[in-house]
Amino acid sequence: MYVFSRLTRHKPSVACGYLLPQCADSTDPEGAAWIVTLPPKPKDNPRKSRPIRYSSRSNAKDLRVLQLTDIHVDFQYLPGSEAQCSMPVCCRDNSSKPAQKAGYWGTAADCDIPPWTVEHMLQHISQSHQIDAIILTGDYINHVDWQYSEDEHLVALRKLQNLIVKYFPSTPTYWSLGNHEGVPVNSFAPHFVEERFWPTWLYNQLKNMSSPWVEGNVTNRQISKMGSYSTMMAPGLKLISLNTGFCETTNFFLYLKQSDPDGTMSWLVRELYASEKSGDAVHIMAHIPPGDGECLEGWARNYYRVVQRFANTITAQYFGHDHNDFFIVFYENMDDVNSRPVSVGYAAPSVTTYSNLNPAYRIYTLDASNRYVPSNFEVYTTDLYKYPTANDNPEWNQLYSAKEEYGLPDLSPNSWNKLINQIYTETSTRNTFTKNSFRSATPACDAACVRGLLCNLRMGHHNESLYCSPPKAYLLTNRVP
Ligand SMILES: [Zn+2]
Ligand SMILES: [Zn+2]
Repeated sequence: MYVFSRLTRHKPSVACGYLLPQCADSTDPEGAAWIVTLPPKPKDNPRKSRPIRYSSRSNAKDLRVLQLTDIHVDFQYLPGSEAQCSMPVCCRDNSSKPAQKAGYWGTAADCDIPPWTVEHMLQHISQSHQIDAIILTGDYINHVDWQYSEDEHLVALRKLQNLIVKYFPSTPTYWSLGNHEGVPVNSFAPHFVEERFWPTWLYNQLKNMSSPWVEGNVTNRQISKMGSYSTMMAPGLKLISLNTGFCETTNFFLYLKQSDPDGTMSWLVRELYASEKSGDAVHIMAHIPPGDGECLEGWARNYYRVVQRFANTITAQYFGHDHNDFFIVFYENMDDVNSRPVSVGYAAPSVTTYSNLNPAYRIYTLDASNRYVPSNFEVYTTDLYKYPTANDNPEWNQLYSAKEEYGLPDLSPNSWNKLINQIYTETSTRNTFTKNSFRSATPACDAACVRGLLCNLRMGHHNESLYCSPPKAYLLTNRVP
């Protein structure tokens, strides 16, 4: 109501555009047409001309980084309850005769994951892998978003934080915010609106969770202002945690003014420019991939331009939000998929089972001798159907290892781009990719759903007619087994 009353007073065309996209003013520099200023490119390729500060050091060691995304832990999960309920989220309300009983360790249905399964997974990871750092790319809260409150969010976030500290007390742990951290869901008020809407409570909690791995006055100011921050993850490697609440299509505050919310995009540019000059590599962790349907095109185009400009500095991008496992290739020309691939973003599989998914986690190996470019990653999952009761002990097994599974020589943008072409043209590669994306050989995903998944691979921004060109014959006739 607050947004509507301000819009109708000052910007009737924006109010109309909010309701009907076709009447939005696409040239409004405070709306979808905003443009962040980029510094000029260095004359020489910085890879060749600038000193690479640490990566050639013989004692620099490769890093093993755990990515957990979209945990959506449900503290009210109820084993034995109805898993096929009529509500958007099931497995939490008692029913005398459930059509499908919620399993003890979780259910691949419209259900979020119980806290004891998250704990089982964390314990397993701590006992089976050597982890140098953890990145958490948002959406920690359950999907029962009509009941959200700030107090309950804080309780859930603190419980999750304690669980991670319990198993990884001395592992640097970095958090990003997801759209489900907002109250109401997807709301992240920029500071140009009245103070009563500011998500100060959430940004303070992010500061708390990030401590002691992210600290200092500058970083704390970044978090308080934007819900984003930068920190050195290793010598020569900067990590930027980016708040993509500022690209959410239903973060209604953005319809008052879309351009550079709280200066976040220009801050990102300054951080990257400083790293380019110093020769540091940068990894970006964020929740919503820019080409996602829930991300505003104004943000997506600017983010894409930033990735193009700093393609030599950004050596990895980590996302979540989709719950399916996929990747996104960015190109030299954002409207030409035949132009040179310049960067790749990794959208990791969710920990939650929502919807119809097995829980999963991912571990990257970052190559210290090559600017911490990921040299490989593995995905691990468990098959919940095999473990219905409390007496079962779920096994977490490797689902796939990227290089070996797809025969990639490396994890360069060029190699991923070639893989996209294989996925589009070879049935066996496409089936392998789809199986991995859903953690199931028989996903609940029809042809339209698979088409959406395949389109994601080139959707660094929203241009479906240019980017979405998997073979039409397949898309119209085939169904996933
Ligand atoms: Zn999510
Ligand atoms: Zn999300």
